[in-house]
Amino acid sequence: MGLTLVGELEGGEDFVLLSDPEVDAYINEVAGRIIQASPLQRSFPFTFKVVVNDQVNAFALPGGFCYVQTGLITAAETESELVGVIAHEVSHVTCGHHRRALANQVLIQTAEGIVFNEESPFIAVAAARIASGLGMLRFSRTQESEADRVAVEAMLRAGWNPRGLRDFFETLHEIEGREPGRIEGLLSTHPATTQRIAEIDAMIESAASRSDLISDTPQFHFVQARVESLIGQ
Ligand SMILES: [Zn+2]
Repeated sequence: MGLTLVGELEGGEDFVLLSDPEVDAYINEVAGRIIQASPLQRSFPFTFKVVVNDQVNAFALPGGFCYVQTGLITAAETESELVGVIAHEVSHVTCGHHRRALANQVLIQTAEGIVFNEESPFIAVAAARIASGLGMLRFSRTQESEADRVAVEAMLRAGWNPRGLRDFFETLHEIEGREPGRIEGLLSTHPATTQRIAEIDAMIESAASRSDLISDTPQFHFVQARVESLIGQ
């Protein structure tokens, strides 16, 4: 099903991959370290691609196919903010949230037989919604908390400061004031509620005294500048 979605999505007219070897290598390297450090089992390999889209977003399809949008790379202020969002997305996958959210949505919207047919109109509709930045799946509050918790644990194990996940909410808040259209998709699928922020604050408290965690790197800013020049910003 993930592969069918990938085909439909990447074949879409408005869907453009950045396809820059240096940027792809960086994203796959940092994401790979998070996946290695993930406390949960993975039953499939992950692949990351960068999509030219100014919306601040990253998303995963069933089966470990992940996309980071250029809007997220240019919006993040530090490496640990970018890694925080990637870790959160990866955690939705490793926790099996897509499967459950998809099953719920399917039960509500259509009959099971239609979804698993490769010619399914559901697939095309889902791909179109993802490509337009509306996202496909909404996660429950419990799933958001679980993804945050697993993301914080993976960041700590991989050596990044989980404070990045928290800092990203401040960055989102600033963008909201300046260019609210850029974050609609992200906020509709992953609401930045006060409760969610408070829960993350409690999770990262124990890491506050550690000085060995990475918050930022020159490599991130090099890649960010490269993305900006490639997309002409
Ligand atoms: Zn989420």
